[in-house]
Amino acid sequence: MIISMKKGATQEQMDHVKKLIEGFGYRVHESKGSERVLFGAIGDERGKERLTCLEAQPGVEKVIPILNPYKLASRETRHEPTVVDLGLGVKIGGRNLVVIAGPCAVESQQQIMEVASALKDTGAHMLRGGAFKPRTSPYAFQGLKNDGLVLLSEARKAYGLPVITEVMDIGSIDLISEYADCLQVGARNIQNFQLLKEVGRSKKPVLLKRGMSTTIEEFLMSAEYVLSGGNSQVILCERGIRTFETATRNTLDLSAVPVLKEKTHLPVIVDPSHGTGHARYVEPMAYAAIAAGADGLMIEVHPRPEEALSDGPQSLRPHEFRNLMAGVRRVAQAVDRLM
Ligand code: PEP
Ligand code: MN
Repeated sequence: MIISMKKGATQEQMDHVKKLIEGFGYRVHESKGSERVLFGAIGDERGKERLTCLEAQPGVEKVIPILNPYKLASRETRHEPTVVDLGLGVKIGGRNLVVIAGPCAVESQQQIMEVASALKDTGAHMLRGGAFKPRTSPYAFQGLKNDGLVLLSEARKAYGLPVITEVMDIGSIDLISEYADCLQVGARNIQNFQLLKEVGRSKKPVLLKRGMSTTIEEFLMSAEYVLSGGNSQVILCERGIRTFETATRNTLDLSAVPVLKEKTHLPVIVDPSHGTGHARYVEPMAYAAIAAGADGLMIEVHPRPEEALSDGPQSLRPHEFRNLMAGVRRVAQAVDRLM
């Protein structure tokens, strides 16, 4: 339930209402808008009738049921867009556009430094790179693991770019958090509820990638796991879903962008690299994503894609990424976004 306070409600009235909600056994989620304060009562739905009587309390405007199964992720509980602080001065959400780029996997010091230098030059905001890689084949390159984390942090320091890398299991969250500014939960783990609960306890922002067969509602329920664990810094990433189409690696569901933006206050980004699987389709889909209202992009970039140990065919070369950034700036300006 949402308890909407009146415009001029006093602090005393708000404190009292909060206490009453907690007394009913609910957790209070406070959202301060420009006009009024909303309290989300989060907990067992069965006892919600008791909350309706709060309407009689001084300062309360109305008590409204939250219609969606995702409560904290819903726009109903928070009207303003959430702005996530990604570290080193980079913020995503609101009018800000953020471009995250880098190789699929960290492969060597030379590779990651070369990419980071090119990204810095072109004005990208954040460096990506997998150290622990979820691969379909157990024989494929699994990532440099701890060494990859160290290389990422060296690149972070050298170029002043915050870094994001994937966390695949609960046991490595603490280690990865020592090096990364943001934790990525990949498509294959989006319904690993134990992992979601644990990153929900983390102090690091979390980027959730949509699963290949995850509906938008399921995706938002995954976000709800993280939010309900106490971590409000969540970003959603559309990266393509599996359909009958084989011309592209996945089908990039760009309609998910306006749908998600309508349903949630969380920032939404798009990954056209995994979304299409082909470097030549990345640029047009990146522009389309920004035009559709995305808050950012995640793009795979490799200095020599033909030598990449994973996802070479969908990786842009640095000069191609430079072109993309120039185009993204033009689209951003057209749709009144800041970058
Ligand atoms: C990745 O970002 O390299 C990755 C493995 O993505 P996804 O989880 O979307 O497949
Ligand atoms: Mn990849």
